[in-house]
Amino acid sequence: MLQLFHTFTDGLEAVLFPATCMACGTAIKDKKRVLCSKCVNDRFEDPNPANRVSCTKMLLPDGINFQDALWRYDKEGHIQEMIRCLKYKGMSQIGTELGKIAGKRIAERHLGTHTPDNLQEILLVPVPLHPAREKKRGYNQARMIASGMSEISGVDLAENEIVVRTRNTLTQTKFSFSKRMENLKGVFKVNHPEKLKDKFIILVDDVFTTGSTCYSMAASLKNTGVAGIGILTIGIA
Ligand SMILES: [Zn+2]
Repeated sequence: MLQLFHTFTDGLEAVLFPATCMACGTAIKDKKRVLCSKCVNDRFEDPNPANRVSCTKMLLPDGINFQDALWRYDKEGHIQEMIRCLKYKGMSQIGTELGKIAGKRIAERHLGTHTPDNLQEILLVPVPLHPAREKKRGYNQARMIASGMSEISGVDLAENEIVVRTRNTLTQTKFSFSKRMENLKGVFKVNHPEKLKDKFIILVDDVFTTGSTCYSMAASLKNTGVAGIGILTIGIA
């Protein structure tokens, strides 16, 4: 029985802390990593290699200075699988690890010309979940990503209560862009505008799809005296 228990916990550990790369299966010495360095550097497509203002062809709304993502979202591929594990399988540590990879971009001042040179002027603000959803999931995946970014870059991470989500919106995948924007109106509430004043805000989320979530969050932030707003996600659909 004890042996069975050990087999079970070993298996659990292997799932929670894979010692192999999630994309290619290569063994990784550092058990905390989810991807090998070869995959990080060569395998996934950078959606914005030239660091233009936006990595979609879309014009950004007023008040948003840049939008960038680490990788192009490969439907049914490894990035989707990682995000799924992060959001629905309790593997919060994937968020921190992916955030660390994205954090290098900030540390190396790799986000175009719109971010301040002084990293102390930047504040990372993860897209909040509704408290009920966060309680159910046990964590906010965007906050896990942002904490990895903060750890690598030294950029401050905003506290939880500064910006909150006031309604638990239903899944929006079947909605048009304008319907999504309408549905999200007034969802984000800034509790402490004084903590955002004069800061360059980087909104952090797992995946950028239509942009409706980040855009509506940006709309609630832009009149709080911020120095600028950028969007950084792991994937872009
Ligand atoms: Zn790999």
